[in-house]
Amino acid sequence: MDHLKKYITEINDYPKEGIVFKDLNPIYKEPKIWKELMFPLQNLISTKKPDYIAGIESRGFISASALAFKLEIGLITIRKPNKLPGEVIGTNYKLEYGEDRLEIQRNIIEKDSKILLFDDLLATGGTAGAAGNLIKKAGGNLIGYAFLVELTELKGRENLDSNLFLETLIKY
Ligand code: AMP
Repeated sequence: MDHLKKYITEINDYPKEGIVFKDLNPIYKEPKIWKELMFPLQNLISTKKPDYIAGIESRGFISASALAFKLEIGLITIRKPNKLPGEVIGTNYKLEYGEDRLEIQRNIIEKDSKILLFDDLLATGGTAGAAGNLIKKAGGNLIGYAFLVELTELKGRENLDSNLFLETLIKY
């Protein structure tokens, strides 16, 4: 998958000084390239037979919704604070560039349904770790994680449950 790196733009000092931001928009803009990533991911995920894909706001929504649609399974949204209507469960967590909070609707998950968590990129693992905890708190059975890109030096994997399925397609 390394040949796809030329479709990932690197932006220095965004959104904060010292961060090299990986912009995946050039991938989404090219249907053939996006498909090259989505097909293997779709096949891998389908073997795990999740009931739902959970996408993390907002860049995670892009491919999470496409995957859910292709696999004909439901999409669950994990969102930034005050975006979801009704009762929510929330958690605060540390980001590569700051601190944030994620929320999920309290009654959105049927107890023990199998959830595959998706985000565009795994950096420190703070976001996905927090999102995974939220899924469990909301009654879901977290079965694994999938990302398009992994920044391996940040060792985000160490913040995730090592017993679960974990797939990252493009590694830096
Ligand atoms: P982390 O919680 O550190 O694993 O950060 C992952 C989340 O932050 C994902 O939702 C990414 O969209 C975003 N993110 C963190 N670092 C970067 C980066 N260097 N380039 C692009 N997105 C990033």
